[in-house]
Amino acid sequence: MMTTNEIEALKELLASPKKIAIIPHRNPDGDAMGSTLGLYHFLTQKKHDVSVISPNEFPNFLAWMPEAEKVMIFEKNPENCTEKLNQADIIFTLDFNALHRVGDFMQATLEKLEKTFVMIDHHQSPDNYSKFTFSDTGYGSTCEMVYHFIHQLGEENLINKNIATCIYTGIVTDSGSFRFPLTTSTTHRVVADLIDKGVENSKIHNLLFDTSSYNRLQLLGRALQNMKLLPEYKTSYITLSQEELDTFGYAKGDTEGIVNYGLSLKGFDFTAIFIENKEEGLIKISFRSQGAFDVNQFARNHFSGGGHINAAGGKSDLSMEETIKQFIAILASEKKTTDETVLT
Ligand code: 5GP
Ligand code: MN
Repeated sequence: MMTTNEIEALKELLASPKKIAIIPHRNPDGDAMGSTLGLYHFLTQKKHDVSVISPNEFPNFLAWMPEAEKVMIFEKNPENCTEKLNQADIIFTLDFNALHRVGDFMQATLEKLEKTFVMIDHHQSPDNYSKFTFSDTGYGSTCEMVYHFIHQLGEENLINKNIATCIYTGIVTDSGSFRFPLTTSTTHRVVADLIDKGVENSKIHNLLFDTSSYNRLQLLGRALQNMKLLPEYKTSYITLSQEELDTFGYAKGDTEGIVNYGLSLKGFDFTAIFIENKEEGLIKISFRSQGAFDVNQFARNHFSGGGHINAAGGKSDLSMEETIKQFIAILASEKKTTDETVLT
């Protein structure tokens, strides 16, 4: 929760119409889009002038979200976005806690701004740029935090179907459809309330998960065939080269969720997916673990990344082959095979 002092100060700040920018992290996921759009639908009801500004394009499978078409894309339209940011009185940053997460280009713009920043986020090790901070790794999603934030402001009566739909989306995507460990009884109570507020929950699951293209399923097939096992480290990994992505007409979002298959193997507690991006000259990596193995630390220590204990990401400037070599060498030196966790 935010402190009472912070909430009171924010209430006062928001008591008169303000110009507000809301920013998700680069490559926004369901939680980043859900939390920013959910907050947008809340603040617009309060007569503020609100813009959601995403660092880059959001994936197509989220395009149905209420008023997603109003989201401005910094990378596509830097002049207009910079103007909005310059005019803003308040800047909310949601689902990230370090300005570099918006990418170099937009980060340079944000760092020049002397504005009131508000952070709502559930990742570890927040940076110190926000005047108002709601940072707590105990929540499974930023969307759930936005729900509590609106309650703390005493404005829960304003939670309408659009807000509920956005918040529900982020809770579902960040909790792996209510299965990850941070899914609490409170999460389920929040969701129950959101359904009472009009969320068409079954329809949202369809929109999120049942809209694959044939290409995407073929790419998934290739990814699963590429999966390699390192049973001595209870580890699996998948690679996808740029060439393979091209073969299957890769579109943004197509690789979403593929990493999780590596954890569905019996007896495995760590998995990674390495996805080549020739244009950016790097390999983007996602890590997932089950139990005590801390992938946030692993990503931070070795792959310029971060995230949560069981879900994190990072990158490598090396070739795919070199990256995999490095990955296995790190496992050999760090991941104990005498791990006492018994997975069933
Ligand atoms: P994903 O693997 O789904 O892209 O990300 C998993 C989690 O790790 C997310 O919570 C995301 O915010 C975080 N994450 C992904 N990539 C990076 C990165 O490059 N740096 C940091 N600090 N966090 C990341
Ligand atoms: Mn999140």
